[in-house]
Amino acid sequence: MSWELVAGLETHVELSTKTKIFCRCTTQFGGEPNTHCCPVCIGLPGTLPKLNKAVVEYAVRAGLATNCNIRNISKMDRKNYVYPDLPKAYQISQYDKPLCEKGYIELSDGNKINITRIHIEEDAGKLIHQRGDTYIDYNRGGVPLIEIVTEPDIRSIEQAIEYIEKLRLIMKYIGVSDVKMQEGSLRCDVNISVRKKGQEGYGTRTEIKNMNSLNFIAKAMEYEFARQVEILESGGEIVQETRRYNSDQNITESMRGKEDADDYRYFRDPDLVTIAISDDEIENIRESLPELPGEKLKRFTEEFALPLEDAELLIRYKKIAEYFEQSCRNVTTKKLVSNYILGQMFRRLPTDTEKEEFSIKVSSEQLNELVLLTETKKLNSNMARNVLEQMLDTGKGVMDFISESDMTGIDEGDLRAICEKAVANNQKAAEEYKSGKEKAIGSIIGFIMKETKGKADAAAATEIVKQLIINS
Ligand code: ADP
Ligand code: MG
Ligand code: ZN
Repeated sequence: MSWELVAGLETHVELSTKTKIFCRCTTQFGGEPNTHCCPVCIGLPGTLPKLNKAVVEYAVRAGLATNCNIRNISKMDRKNYVYPDLPKAYQISQYDKPLCEKGYIELSDGNKINITRIHIEEDAGKLIHQRGDTYIDYNRGGVPLIEIVTEPDIRSIEQAIEYIEKLRLIMKYIGVSDVKMQEGSLRCDVNISVRKKGQEGYGTRTEIKNMNSLNFIAKAMEYEFARQVEILESGGEIVQETRRYNSDQNITESMRGKEDADDYRYFRDPDLVTIAISDDEIENIRESLPELPGEKLKRFTEEFALPLEDAELLIRYKKIAEYFEQSCRNVTTKKLVSNYILGQMFRRLPTDTEKEEFSIKVSSEQLNELVLLTETKKLNSNMARNVLEQMLDTGKGVMDFISESDMTGIDEGDLRAICEKAVANNQKAAEEYKSGKEKAIGSIIGFIMKETKGKADAAAATEIVKQLIINS
């Protein structure tokens, strides 16, 4: 009789349009408090909002990229509540006619997390608690948001995290947001309930508000799941409420009872006109979308025959995915290219931010040249690795580090002679190998590499040495 977790996510994504949703103030993050504001976005009486067309377009992009239907006709509504970060005492949002509906994101386990709706709305200001006082910064007020709401389809913490990561990557690929969780441009409300495995219908849920770290989301979900199970097992009932995650103590704690939609007294905003989008406009936006991460992954594994782990790492950063593709020109074994990127290049870019920026000195043309030389066996892999290190240090091309003679390699007769010398000079190792100690051959090959300054083809040398020993 085990318990199952049920979760649905409400994700807020700040859109990276230049200006705010209803005025021409900048959407830039940070800045001196209350300097990115005007009478409209601080809600002075008598001002009139005017919807930023780019916001609608960005939201439609997000909807199409997550398989949603787009409404031709929608509208803005007022959601009424009082809180100091919301000077008008209502948030302009969308209630019963959201711009996008009925989408989904597919997870790697084959399950689809259904998206109920995506609507546009304005962000609120920010309370700053400092020196025992509370201050308000309205810079964020009126920054455009989309809220992406899922069905309660999530059944594990892993699924929740994968959903957010996939959503985040899609938003980044289509360029509607910088989705920086630490700056709050992607935040999640996590709704959780539990039920007995096999039970139909859902239990009462709680909602953990405003999470902006994957690590905290996982911890909060783990805690909340255990808390609910414990209450139910001891015969108690779950109270539907809004909770917050306290990261200092790693617990969730009650914030307030749950509001119903009725509490918000939603009504259409009389200051804003109907939003009308034609099918043609929707199709134009669809055509302008780039290849999405899921499609790229499929292509890299199927057409490029990359292992899944390689493909997943490459598509995680759009810039790197593109660099990889450019470096693959005329290359038959694409895995060779991915090895250099995920190996030697990633070693130099340990953090996520560094990979994101991907500022390395080797251009895709230069990497391509190197890979083509190794693929045609003009350069052995040993030398190629060394050369790549020097290229990464200096930004110079392959030909700056190798000579014609390096590329011609060693002819067969010469290689055989060197192998004979190597065996003669390493009699002990040869005998050990003969008596079954496979690894002993390593020191003989090492000798050959040293003699040839890495020019010898290790695989060919190994074959020759094995034969020499066996026939001795
Ligand atoms: P509200 O807008 O009042 O927060 P919704 O019905 O729109 O409520 O649901 C909000 C989120 O809660 C959705 O993501 C939904 O999937 C999720 N949810 C609804 N019921 C449950 C439940 N019993 N357990 C877990 N999540 C739920
Ligand atoms: Mg909610
Ligand atoms: Zn403004």
